[in-house]
Amino acid sequence: MKSSTRNKPAIPNELRLGCIASLYYKEVREVPVPKQIEVLDAFFKGFIVKEIPSDGQTKKNAVYNDMDGYIEAVRYQGSFHTGQSKRVTQIIGRLIGTAKKGIEKERKTASLIQEKIAGDLANNEDRLNDLRCGVLDLFKGFSETEWERFFLTFADYINAVTARREAISSRDKELELFPMDDEIFYDLMEGVINEWNINTLESKLNSFTWLLLGALLRNRISRLTYVYDSGFRPRRSQPASLRENEDFDYYYEGDDLDKRFPGIEWYCDRCGEHLNSQEGFDDHHHIWKCTNCGYKNEIEIRNIYDPEDSEVNAGQPTIPDKFFKALKERTDELDAQENIEDSSRRRI
Ligand SMILES: [Zn+2]
Repeated sequence: MKSSTRNKPAIPNELRLGCIASLYYKEVREVPVPKQIEVLDAFFKGFIVKEIPSDGQTKKNAVYNDMDGYIEAVRYQGSFHTGQSKRVTQIIGRLIGTAKKGIEKERKTASLIQEKIAGDLANNEDRLNDLRCGVLDLFKGFSETEWERFFLTFADYINAVTARREAISSRDKELELFPMDDEIFYDLMEGVINEWNINTLESKLNSFTWLLLGALLRNRISRLTYVYDSGFRPRRSQPASLRENEDFDYYYEGDDLDKRFPGIEWYCDRCGEHLNSQEGFDDHHHIWKCTNCGYKNEIEIRNIYDPEDSEVNAGQPTIPDKFFKALKERTDELDAQENIEDSSRRRI
């Protein structure tokens, strides 16, 4: 007996732009997926494709400009024209993720584009806002049913991407075109899921934006998750273990009291790298030159900001008196403990 049941095609489950494009266009908007160059331009407006001014009626091969890292193309009858440029086609294929495994052609170029965009977004909040405005445009004029399809489709996609990651072997992970470390992947997805579950339009779009960026930037997404929280608010150097009580005093529970600023995680103001983990870092230096980008970061109390989740002083500069008072109290506390231990040892 023949079964006539047709299975609904499984939802794509890879974190790549090709999958996201297919869901966004086919499932949500119910239109055909445009040419790849158009997809890249729509998802990352102004970041990958640059328009060459033209009369709009002339075909010209697109080129990749190694100097500034953009694909330059003319519009032909309204849409970008790639033409016969194999190189551009290959670069686009790497970025969209349609390229076959193991094919190295233009992988390096695609990787340079990733690096450039990650740096751009990590160092420049205005560029990040440009990107987010571009994403917002993708949802302009959405009907209620389109929104509904978006919510359903991408909730499934987020689950599918996470489930796939848990199911595949580490060998398969390594074989991906741009392999992603587990730590970076789960860090990203934590933000994606977090924003998705906040359940506002803005947070859903944040979630979608992280998916796009993760698919494009792969391991380089870590530069952005270092610098921005899941809602794209800049993380600054924040007191990790200093918290306020109701009277708005800080307290410190650690015992790194030989540090100048115990409990403080420092991030490079230019590239967002974690400075504490750089070789030789010591917060007794007043200036620390980032070993990643060479930027000279000032390591002073005025560069420390209160956590964004603080009710009283969110995102504001840490108050020095209160900060040092907390350290003094902790020092006294530890001294007192030591005295007690000493005297009890003596009794034995
Ligand atoms: Zn740096």
